[in-house]
Amino acid sequence: MKTNTSRKTITKSWIIIGIVLTTILMFYMREKFEAPSVKIIATEQSKQIAPKEQSEVIKEEPEIEKKLSIRPLGKVVYLTFDDGPSQLTGQFLDVLKEHDVKATFFMQGANLQNKNFQDNVRRATSEGHYVGAHSMTHNSKRLYTEGKFVEEMNETIAIIHEITGENPKLIRAPYGSVPGLDNEQLRNQIVEANIKVWDWTIDSLDWKLKNNPYQIVENIRNGTTRDIEVVLMHEVRQTLQVLPNIISFYKERGYKFGVYNDFLHFPLNFHNDKRL
Ligand SMILES: [Zn+2]
Repeated sequence: MKTNTSRKTITKSWIIIGIVLTTILMFYMREKFEAPSVKIIATEQSKQIAPKEQSEVIKEEPEIEKKLSIRPLGKVVYLTFDDGPSQLTGQFLDVLKEHDVKATFFMQGANLQNKNFQDNVRRATSEGHYVGAHSMTHNSKRLYTEGKFVEEMNETIAIIHEITGENPKLIRAPYGSVPGLDNEQLRNQIVEANIKVWDWTIDSLDWKLKNNPYQIVENIRNGTTRDIEVVLMHEVRQTLQVLPNIISFYKERGYKFGVYNDFLHFPLNFHNDKRL
């Protein structure tokens, strides 16, 4: 009698465990299928394969594709600062630190070579900011017409590595990927070099608002309409001046501050080229 009862109890327990496990598995599968993601992106595997074969691989491996291209959930703003390092980098880092905000910098090789700026480049990465590349020369003719884009980006990345020990893969194309990277051959070279390109969702136009810094905040405020925003700014004095206002604006709107991460990449370029 006693044995019988305990056998029944054991059987019941197994059934309950089975139900629980099935529920967990179903829930997990549902999450996976419903996860928001960009439709097509080169997978880790397909990076090693010629571009022509990629579409085939993507069809067969939708799960891998999703895992590697998930956008963050909720409202996230990425503050980005181009054209540094500069005399102002340290002050930008001070303001960001004071407000406990992380940002993404795209730095120029020529400025990175300035030894006076290098301590702040190191400080940026050690304080959790991302330092990506923005070419050596910023020269449109050299980068796009003469096709030195990848060469210059690789050189800039190598300098960042030398200074910080980091190995960033994200770059920002000077003047944006349109029209610069209209040439598909250039984009193919970028894919082959395993480099990623981010444009922006909001252009603050800060560089031309030297005498009207509050218009920078207005431009950003007016441009903020999406859950994921990537704000283009520069290491210039007028932006530094209103940076606390920009940070307050996003905090009031309930945004979290994202910092780019090579391992959680999602495509964001004007060409809508999912490989970048
Ligand atoms: Zn620039």
